[in-house]
Amino acid sequence: MLTWKEILQFARHGNPTPDKTIVKSDADWKAQLTPDQYRITRQHGTERPFSGEYCGVFELALYACVCCGTLLFDAREKFESGTGWPSFTQPIKANAIKYIEDLSHGMQRVETRCNSCDAHLGHVFPDGPQPSGLRYCMNSVALQKAEALQAGKTETATFGGGCFWCTEALFESLKGVHSVVSGYSGGQVQNPTYKQVCSGITGHAEVVQITYDPAIISYKDLVTLHILSHDPTTLNRQGADEGTQYRSVIFFHNDAQKITARKVLEELKSEFKQPIVTEVSAFTEFYKAEAYHQDYFKNNPGQPYCQVVIHPKVKKFKEKFGGKLK
Ligand SMILES: [Zn+2]
Repeated sequence: MLTWKEILQFARHGNPTPDKTIVKSDADWKAQLTPDQYRITRQHGTERPFSGEYCGVFELALYACVCCGTLLFDAREKFESGTGWPSFTQPIKANAIKYIEDLSHGMQRVETRCNSCDAHLGHVFPDGPQPSGLRYCMNSVALQKAEALQAGKTETATFGGGCFWCTEALFESLKGVHSVVSGYSGGQVQNPTYKQVCSGITGHAEVVQITYDPAIISYKDLVTLHILSHDPTTLNRQGADEGTQYRSVIFFHNDAQKITARKVLEELKSEFKQPIVTEVSAFTEFYKAEAYHQDYFKNNPGQPYCQVVIHPKVKKFKEKFGGKLK
């Protein structure tokens, strides 16, 4: 989480390097943007308060720079500031925003720009809600919705955290989760068998593939629950189960998932005595496991195998999303 102290540091001594840099001529920006977008982002304009499209809007979405499409903010960090401009407590990534000390109009302020294309976005003030205490005061015109997470539209998450029987049991029957399928992912062998995966030479991890409704349960919730319900600090091991097939892993399906996963791991660092070793890799292929692995606990009642380590904070998820969490 970025602090005001770090922002002042960036504004005065240099910003972190962006993931990409976009340089265009003024004429190109003028041709690409509407007159309002051009005036605000390229000429440091400000839209009238309460006039912007995203003022007072709180549905799930990711916001990107209107000029270059770089992801800047997550609606989950948006709050009602009452100012008439969309306000956020944090950017999506520390290097997404550029900070510049702005001494115009006889005030001492910190201007925010897109760190990739230099678009003027607004300002940031140290009077936002806790825990960050920050208020990113943005022009709606400078933003575009990158990914609308609408009700009814399902998404996929893929996690490994030891034996998939246990992981599947954990996620099944949570509100917003449509299906949980056990399988193999992340290795080199096509259509592997359980026996091959157990030998530890396929590179595959035992994983669950979760289909969920992001309007009800967010990817952030799923990642948090995943990390808090196994031991993410033991490399290639969960309890007595040892081997790369039992590694702690998050296979992300898009950039937004990658960013969220990394953010959650950072936020949960302090919950564990040892460093988190969870792998965060791009999803490639998922192979469904043999039928007898699906719904293992439903079909084998009384099976005492799963000794899932549940963090006390998981209780909160049980209250919110139901399910069979212990
Ligand atoms: Zn930009």
